[in-house]
Amino acid sequence: KSSSDNESSKKDQATGKPSGIFLDKDGKPCRACTAFRDWTKRGKKKESSQHNNEKSKKENKPNNNATGGITNNNSQELPPDCPPDSEQLGRATWTFLHTMAAYYPEVPSSEQQINMRNLLSGFSQFYPCWYCAEHLREEMKKVPPKVESRWALGIWLCDMHNIVNERLGKPIFDCNKINERWKDGPKN
Ligand code: FAD
Repeated sequence: KSSSDNESSKKDQATGKPSGIFLDKDGKPCRACTAFRDWTKRGKKKESSQHNNEKSKKENKPNNNATGGITNNNSQELPPDCPPDSEQLGRATWTFLHTMAAYYPEVPSSEQQINMRNLLSGFSQFYPCWYCAEHLREEMKKVPPKVESRWALGIWLCDMHNIVNERLGKPIFDCNKINERWKDGPKN
């Protein structure tokens, strides 16, 4: 199935980025493919209300949400005990990938290079947001991972992330700053 078959809503009018609840290959909503705010937009009030009521009961607290749903002031925030949405998963994954690249050997052995290539290839097959993974595989076909040094890997990953940033209308990151951001911290 193509991405659009599994997308229950199309593009955000303002940003042109995909929005709405994405379905998984089994036809069920895919949380790891959907931003939490899009669940809330699409009438997930009932489910959330149940969740909140159960949580309130468990914690022996009244449910103070006046609407009985999720449309309170924190409606954009993923509750801490929920499975990750596409944004939380994305942030955590980029953190892992950039940090891994920052600690990759400066001069990797052939075996290390093969292992890194395999890791990235496996990652691009199993990343839980399926349409993100599909895009990544397309980009990796055009520009295969550069694993010959720490710097090469860091820049390749930065470029991949910037491709996603561009698609989502997010700022483009200055790849000269990968060490500052992911290893050494800000320069004084
Ligand atoms: P993130 O984009 O998660 O970035 C985290 C931090 O990384 C930033 O705060 C910044 O300090 C730093 N950073 C930003 N850009 C770079 C860069 N180029 N190099 C180094 N550091 C950088 N979401 C979708 O909606 N659609 C998609 O198709 C999609 N594809 C994805 C593909 C992959 C492989 C991954 C890991 C995630 C994908 N996501 C996708 C999620 C998306 O990229 C973001 O992670 C999510 O929207 C949260 O964004 P954020 O603004 O918190 O920052």
